[in-house]
Amino acid sequence: MGKRIVILGAGYAGVLTAKKLAKRLRKTEDVTITLIDKNSYHTMLTELHEVAAGRVDEASVRISLQRIFAGRRVELVTDTIRSVDYAGRQVKGDRAVYEYDYLVLATGSQPACFGIPGVEEYSWKLWSYQDAVRLKAHILDCFRRAVSESDPEEKKRLLTFYIAGAGFTGAEMAGELAEWVPILCEEFGLSRSEVEIVAFDLLDRVVPTFPSKLSDKAQRRMEKMGVRVMLKISLT
Ligand SMILES: Cc1cc2nc3c(=O)[nH]c(=O)nc-3n(C[C@H](O)[C@H](O)[C@H](O)COP(=O)(O)OP(=O)(O)OC[C@H]3O[C@@H](n4cnc5c(N)ncnc54)[C@H](O)[C@@H]3O)c2cc1C
Repeated sequence: MGKRIVILGAGYAGVLTAKKLAKRLRKTEDVTITLIDKNSYHTMLTELHEVAAGRVDEASVRISLQRIFAGRRVELVTDTIRSVDYAGRQVKGDRAVYEYDYLVLATGSQPACFGIPGVEEYSWKLWSYQDAVRLKAHILDCFRRAVSESDPEEKKRLLTFYIAGAGFTGAEMAGELAEWVPILCEEFGLSRSEVEIVAFDLLDRVVPTFPSKLSDKAQRRMEKMGVRVMLKISLT
């Protein structure tokens, strides 16, 4: 029996691995490559904030795996994997059990909440296609409800957006939202001054992976766009 390679996760890592292996092994008959993901599409995770803030159409960040792998010797499976039996060389999904000789784990990561009270339970995550679509709908819903809200406190609540984390993703989301808000204000007949966008972080600067000069520049840019930046927030 030939060798079975199973790749779990069709994100950037899984797709690239499957493509490279398919190319390298194209003349090797006795190898099968199976790519398993819970979705039938690849999500361009790096563009999610653009969907969440209405800049691009939802469909633009979702690419059919059938399309990506057309003509390539990669078997595509849509299933959610629940466990891996390393000793028995099997992955167990909702729909079937998949046997392997080689397993590539490329299931990605989860958002980190760093113990900030309330973030885990009450925030809207931005880590999947569905998250981005939900978040966009929620922001629109807040504006829709704010227009007909007579209680000033409730209206203020509806138009206040806190972004937890001012790293790359948080800063990008804050920037996108700051660009979308004037458009939404125009559409819903609201004043920009009624909307508050706050990006907060435990650390002392935004996008800490940048050199500090660039972090300062990014912060100044965010503030110029009307984002309030709160740094070194306390967890108590
Ligand atoms: C909004 C946002 C913006 C970003 N911007 C940038 C950027 O500009 N530059 C940059 O370098 N990085 C950026 N990142 C980070 C980058 O997206 C990740 O580092 C990258 O997606 C990791 O790729 P991956 O293939 O390891 O995992 P992922 O892309 O997360 O893919 C994992 C795949 O595994 C699947 N999967 C997970 N669990 C299961 C399961 N149990 N069963 C079946 N399938 C499963 C998922 O459906 C998914 O398709 C950004 C992230 C976000 C969220």
